[in-house]
Amino acid sequence: MHNCIFLLLFILLYIGPVFAEPPKTCTYSTYKWNVHQRKAIEFKQVKHPYTDLSSHEIHQDTGCTVCEEDQVEIAIPGINRFSVCKQFAGKIETALRKLKQQNQPVLDVVGYRVGMTKGNVDHQGNRTEFSYHSFGIAIDINTGQNGLYDNCITYGPQCKLIKGGKWHPDQTGSLTSQSPIVMELKSIGFKWGGEIEGKQKDFMHFSPTGY
Ligand SMILES: [Zn+2]
Repeated sequence: MHNCIFLLLFILLYIGPVFAEPPKTCTYSTYKWNVHQRKAIEFKQVKHPYTDLSSHEIHQDTGCTVCEEDQVEIAIPGINRFSVCKQFAGKIETALRKLKQQNQPVLDVVGYRVGMTKGNVDHQGNRTEFSYHSFGIAIDINTGQNGLYDNCITYGPQCKLIKGGKWHPDQTGSLTSQSPIVMELKSIGFKWGGEIEGKQKDFMHFSPTGY
């Protein structure tokens, strides 16, 4: 019994802090999406002590942050390097390696990328919230074959392509609900932007909510 307590103390005192040690600083570059100009503006570099992280720099449900220090780079042969939040890196890497081994067409991946492209618009027309990509908890797959569409409650000719390449369900690299890529990412807890409710369909996009 005493041994157990000593062991527990040892783990807490010596090993715990090694794993729990937060980074010293938080570094990132960001921008704001302006809805009037339809472009990214106010690019800036941010660097401050990690202890000064504000609530809008932390994703509340996952604990992932906008800091480069909390991202892990993933390098898989045949795919460009990209980074994601360290909490998700293992799962995402395993899933994409498996898909590559099965010769599934994972052509390009975008992960961590900080920017305010979400949420309400301020009086100058700037978005005011960080996207899921900003925290490294969203990935885009095959952007050239899986565009983001607006005016698209259900997919049809009225849908308007606003980012990425045209989606054709029978084209190599385009994703559908039957694609092994979509099914694999759903099996690790992601939702697909091609199946979200609302006006937009984001066929390249995966995140815990799909948005
Ligand atoms: Zn995305």
